[in-house]
Order: sequence, then structure tokens, then C-alpha cells
Amino acid sequence: MNSAVQDQKKANKLTSTRNAGKLVNDYWETVFRAKEEGKLVCWYEGSAINPFLQAADICWVHGEAYSALLAARHQEGPAQKAAEEHGYIKELCSYARTHLGCVVSNQRMGNAPETPFLGMADDPHLAARLPAPDMIISAYAYCSTGQQWDEITARLFGKKIPIFNVSIPLIWGGKPDAGYLKGEEWEETSQYLARQLREMVVFIEQQTGRKFEWDRLYEMMGYVKQASKLRLEAMDLCTARPAPASFFDWIVSIAPLNNLPIGPHLVDFFQGMKDEVQQRVASGAGAIHNERYRLYFDGIMNWNKVGWLAEKFAKYDATVVSGRYTHQAFWQEPDLIDPNDPILGMAQNYLICPINLSAPFLIEKTLNFCRKYELDGMVLHSSRTCRAFTNPQFLMAEAATRELGIPTTMFEGDVTDESFYKDELLNSRVEAMLEAIDASRAGRGTPSQVSDFSLLAQNRAEASPLVFHRG
Ligand code: SF4
Repeated sequence: MNSAVQDQKKANKLTSTRNAGKLVNDYWETVFRAKEEGKLVCWYEGSAINPFLQAADICWVHGEAYSALLAARHQEGPAQKAAEEHGYIKELCSYARTHLGCVVSNQRMGNAPETPFLGMADDPHLAARLPAPDMIISAYAYCSTGQQWDEITARLFGKKIPIFNVSIPLIWGGKPDAGYLKGEEWEETSQYLARQLREMVVFIEQQTGRKFEWDRLYEMMGYVKQASKLRLEAMDLCTARPAPASFFDWIVSIAPLNNLPIGPHLVDFFQGMKDEVQQRVASGAGAIHNERYRLYFDGIMNWNKVGWLAEKFAKYDATVVSGRYTHQAFWQEPDLIDPNDPILGMAQNYLICPINLSAPFLIEKTLNFCRKYELDGMVLHSSRTCRAFTNPQFLMAEAATRELGIPTTMFEGDVTDESFYKDELLNSRVEAMLEAIDASRAGRGTPSQVSDFSLLAQNRAEASPLVFHRG
């Protein structure tokens, strides 16, 4: 392939997201300096409670964000190894395993909980610099691994760290009046969670010894609301053909909205993205150069494979236009947030995390995105260690083929452990799905589910037998 053709096969990434890397770096530098600056540090996973912590002038460490950072920089290995040596099996959520590995290393060096991590000789850059927590807030939707991750963290620190638990019930949607964002269950659950968030603020006040700064929270949630609306408006523009931005552009924009410091810059960031997307629509530029297929991506992100996947789909002339991780998460219902009284709307946004909705709601939302963006197929990333995301995938795949007549395919990967990838398997499955789309367009057959799911299950068992370690 000559270089001109190769360039045509490259992802045409948005340039407005380039600043995201700097925002991420700047934020983690403030985290690494937190103890020197006399700040309290809170660890949490799951729900985006960071606005509460920022309002209270507490430094926050989001466990998934930290594991994702290590994976994106290919520096996750030493932490994962330390966790496995301690007895956390390879099948444990790799987000949790990576993060707990940092704690294990800290314990091995005999560091007191209040000291920064100093001991990861294998990883002098990132994992070695994470400050230990002064408090933990556990607010994980649906997944029991997420909840136990916090509990185990507290245990590893000798049960000396105060921990506050927030219970986030699943939205079952089983009552006759139930619907997305409506019904008795929705109203009651929203209020139940809002009450707990108010109690969480009392816990924060106890830790800081100061009154909580509600005005700061209101101001920040005003920025979050504006930024989220701009993001959704920009996403809506991707109904254009070719799609001006891809799922992978939206992936790059998650950290600023989900766990980085909040301020007017957040609004500027998403205004910049929207402006660039608008310009692309006007000029007819696409997220890839020759869009022949438009796809949906289901599953959690693969942080050590973001660029790799973006380029892989670009080579296939396939734009991944939408996905569950990008389009159904991260303050995705900004209209629920009243910046002058944001607690209820924040609770409701935590409740609609896409692993916290029962399958009928999830499927309905997913099919609506497929319809809206006129998608030709669905790729499902079956994350080996995140069962919370993979649980409903067979139902989603069946519904997409049955209701929309589009083919689907599934490949195995992981959140932050790339040893679970089989590149050849991914290639052959995606190619088979694209051939099915071609055949359907040419009137040579009906779309079908391309993946043989029973074979995938068999491959899993043969490829990676369970290995148990004792710590
Ligand atoms: S298994 Fe999935 S949902 Fe659960 S803690 Fe890990 S990444 Fe989060």
C-alpha cells in the first residue's frame, strides 16, 4: 500500500481534543503533590462524586481513572503483577486489580498509610507516586466488584481509613408504571439516593472539619450541565454522513467530564469540540476518510487499545459512530440537573449508569442510537474481567438483529489487561460482519449474528485456564 493510500486509511481524529492530555497530566500532578500541600485525599470508584470533593477542597483519586491512565501509557504491568502475586486472580476486574496492586506495593514497602507511595521500583513514573487515602467513599452502581474494591482497599490499609458507603440500587423497571426516567420506582430510588448524598456531605464535613461549600458545588454543576449539553449537541451532529467524529473521539473526551477538575475551561473544551464537529459537517470531512460502514460499539473501553482500535476500524473504512460507554454515560441527562439544587439530578445521573439499568431499558436506548445514527452493524467488546458490562450483551445482540436487521459480532478483550486480546479473532470477526453487511446490501442474504457465541465461550476456557495464587 503506498503512503497516500495508507493516509486515507488513518483515523482523522478531532484536533480539539488534544488538550485533554494536558488536562489529564495537570490534574495528576496536583494529585501527586497533594500531601506536600497538606490536602486531604479521598479515593473513590464508580460514580462521579468528584464535584462534592472539589467543592470541599479535597484531592480525589478515581480508581478507574488511575488504572486507565496506567493502561493508556502501558505502565499497568507492575501493579497488576503485584496484585496477582498477592492472590488477586487474573479474572478479577483489571481496573480493581491494577489499583489494588498499587496498594499491595505500598504495603510491601512498609509505608504508613499517610505517606505517599514510594516503593514500586518497577514503575518509577506513575504508580509509585499515588498518594494514600485519608478517606474512602464507595458509591458504585450495580457491580459488587466495585463495592468490594473499596472495602478491600480499606482492609489493605489496615482498616484505618474512614469509609462511607453509598448504596445505588439497580433500576429494575418491573412495575407497570415503569419507564426510562419515570415511574414510582424511579422517583423513590432517586430520593433514596439523594438522601444518601446529603449524608455523604455530612461525612465530608466530619473529615474536613469545615462546613461544606454548597455555593461551590452549585457553580460547578452549572459548568457540568453546560459542558454535557454541548457534548450531546456535538454528538447529535454525527447523524451526518460521513460522521464528523467517532466513538474514539468521544472516548478521549471522557476524562475532562468524568473526573478532572471542573471550571469554565470544561465548557470551553466541549464548545471547542462542538465547533470543530460543526465545521466538519459543513466541509463534509469525516472521522475516517472513506466511510463505508457505520457501527455501534458496545462494552467498556479498552484503555490500552484506544488508538489501536481507532486505526483498526479506520483501515476497514468503518466509522464507529456511537457506543454504550460514550453515549449512555457521564452526565448524559444534563436536563435533570438544577444547578441551584443539584443533588437530586446528580443522584439520577448516577442511577442511569449503563450497567445500572435493567436489560429492557438498555436495549431500548441502544436500538434508538442505532436508528438515530443509521448504523449498519454492532461490535460487542466482551470484556473478560468486567462481567457487569458483558452480562446483557447476548440479549442486545439478538435484539439488534431481530429488531433492526443488522449483524453483530463479539470479540474478547479487557479494560486494562491486554493479554486477553486475540488480534486474529477480532480481525476475522469484524471482517465477517462487514462481509455480511456487503452481502445484505447486494441483496445476497439477510443480516445475521456473525459471532458463534458458544465457540467464543469455548475459546475462553481453552485459552486461559484459571490460575489461583495465594498471597
Ligand atoms: S467489573 Fe466492571 S463495573 Fe465492576 S468494578 Fe470492574 S470495571 Fe467497574
